[in-house]
Amino acid sequence: MKLILLGAPGAGKGTQAEVISDALKIPQISTGNILREAVKNGTDFGLKAKEAMDAGKLVSDEIVIGILKDRIAESDCENGYILDGFPRTVPQAEALSAMGISIDKVLEVYVSDEKIESRLSGRRVCESCGASYHIEFKPSKVDGVCDKCDGKTIIRKDDSPEVVKDRLKTYHDQTAPLKDYYGKLGKLETVIGQDEVADTTKLVLKAVGVNG
Ligand code: AMP
Repeated sequence: MKLILLGAPGAGKGTQAEVISDALKIPQISTGNILREAVKNGTDFGLKAKEAMDAGKLVSDEIVIGILKDRIAESDCENGYILDGFPRTVPQAEALSAMGISIDKVLEVYVSDEKIESRLSGRRVCESCGASYHIEFKPSKVDGVCDKCDGKTIIRKDDSPEVVKDRLKTYHDQTAPLKDYYGKLGKLETVIGQDEVADTTKLVLKAVGVNG
């Protein structure tokens, strides 16, 4: 199954992508995580991407499309994948289609901007593996330490309130048009993000056909 998770930054699509990935045994592909890794390692495209990421803007279509193409060519993607954070523009969606990739479903996790602004202030991410936590809604077992890899959990630079406002604007201007794009293809399903992560998870799993 090939799925796209759509949603504003902080709507919880990464967390839900992880759950679906475990349930369906298909990899979660987060372009944001791949880009952060590239920035950390100081690779060529990491250096190019950093400025846009720090400002809450999008990295160029050319760079992310290249990243995505390489990633989905890996062997673990043979039985499908969940795209988390890609596509983020209509040209990116068109590039997927031009690669001959047929997406089964696009799941939007909807959360209002007001809630997102308050949620992102409590978000923590693992600097090693990218796992995402929230100090109130999804704390790690040990404060500051990742449950999965024992890495350090930190506040993302682009989760600061000013950058969050820019990221939301970028989302509404450039990514939200994808709802129309996939809606017209009959692929879009919207799940309303609930206050409790577990409640959203139930809706998401139902939407992708997993019971329980
Ligand atoms: P995320 O972790 O998905 O919120 O992504 C963090 C940042 O990486 C975004 O604010 C963008 O600057 C960049 N990014 C991630 N995915 C994409 C994409 N598909 N297109 C352009 N920029 C992206």
